[in-house]
Amino acid sequence: MKQVAVLGATGSIGASALDVIARHPQRFAVCALSAHRDVDALVALCVRHRPALAVIADPTLESTLKSKLAAARLSTRALSGDPGLREAAAREAAIVVAAIVGAAGLDSTLAAARAGKRLLLANKEAVVMAGPLLLQALREGGGELVPIDSEHNAIFQCLPSGRPDLERAGVRRIVLTASGGPFRGRTRAQLAAVTPDQACAHPNWVMGRKISVDSATLMNKGLEVIEAHWLFGARHDQIDVVVHPQSIVHSLVEYADGSTLAQLGNPDMRTALAHALGYPERIGSGVAGLDFARLGALQFEAPDRVTFACLDLAYRALAAGGTAPAILNAANEVAVAAFLAGTLPFLAIAEIIAATLDAMPAEPVETLEGLIYADLTARQHAQRIMRRAYCC
Ligand code: NAD
Ligand code: MG
Repeated sequence: MKQVAVLGATGSIGASALDVIARHPQRFAVCALSAHRDVDALVALCVRHRPALAVIADPTLESTLKSKLAAARLSTRALSGDPGLREAAAREAAIVVAAIVGAAGLDSTLAAARAGKRLLLANKEAVVMAGPLLLQALREGGGELVPIDSEHNAIFQCLPSGRPDLERAGVRRIVLTASGGPFRGRTRAQLAAVTPDQACAHPNWVMGRKISVDSATLMNKGLEVIEAHWLFGARHDQIDVVVHPQSIVHSLVEYADGSTLAQLGNPDMRTALAHALGYPERIGSGVAGLDFARLGALQFEAPDRVTFACLDLAYRALAAGGTAPAILNAANEVAVAAFLAGTLPFLAIAEIIAATLDAMPAEPVETLEGLIYADLTARQHAQRIMRRAYCC
């Protein structure tokens, strides 16, 4: 029986992970669950999955969590904040699902890597911010990372097992597919007044609001380019992006002999989660197979890099190296939060990120403290630029 900790259990990935886990009661047991502030949702998950530990990230809610767990007659221990998340990531679990959104997931993701766990990484912002530190933590802790992001999970499946370096494996390039999001084909003028709800209405995937906006700006694909660089050791000129509106081909690997391998499936994150939970075995996920006759044609097209400027900003940050990806990520988190709050126009997201990158030259990444400082400084810059230009 493998013990699984699900960090970010109340989110979209958390729900998919728990769905797959519950399908295999002989294989997996949930040992820890976490949420940001939604105590009731966390307690409801504890009633269902009976973990030994529940962590609420907001420390002011720890006593509420304790009393609600007691009222539900559960013996689940309650903890809070980063120390609680670290405990959930580094103690009992054999497998840690890192499904917290944003930089808030970095600390617990690193803790799981250092503790030698199998790390099921959905929290792409952690690897974008701290790629070298995460790889070092995995090496030192002896843990293994299996990507959950559908594109990276697809690439993982299309590469020879054992993760050889790309050169030796004869890999020519990695091609990440992008759905194009809800605004594919629109002009800048048509994007000027789009609302958060329109941006979150993704055509193929049901996801949290932050990643939904990232998909609409194409920053999600930009973050994934950086993620692919760190996870697979691909140079930035070896990572391409193609728009594929149906989200059936989840990504592709092109080899030196001209072969291209792809992983296909319905757009449902439970496939990647089941793959990573069971790896190297294949286990059921609850996702139906493809009906090719009904699918008909699959389309591919080049991304519109002018209208959706965030994609090239990510390539720029990757080429600059050092703290640049962390700066890009921090400015994006600030700008997306303001857009979701209704205080920043959609097209300004890319402008705020570009101006923040301009204002902060990249520094080498040496320590976690240096990185956290770059993250905080970038957030302050982005806030200041936003206030000046948009009064928010
Ligand atoms: P979500 O918003 O649905 O859920 C986020 C989870 O993180 C929730 O449990 C929430 O309580 C927790 N959380 C939020 N802020 C927190 C904080 N400050 N401290 C601690 N916990 C916090 O998001 P999601 O769509 O499930 O995405 C989670 C991560 O997975 C993101 O990094 C996203 O990019 C990545 N991802 C998601 C999908 C998807 O299909 N949803 C696909 C690929 C990658
Ligand atoms: Mg993805």
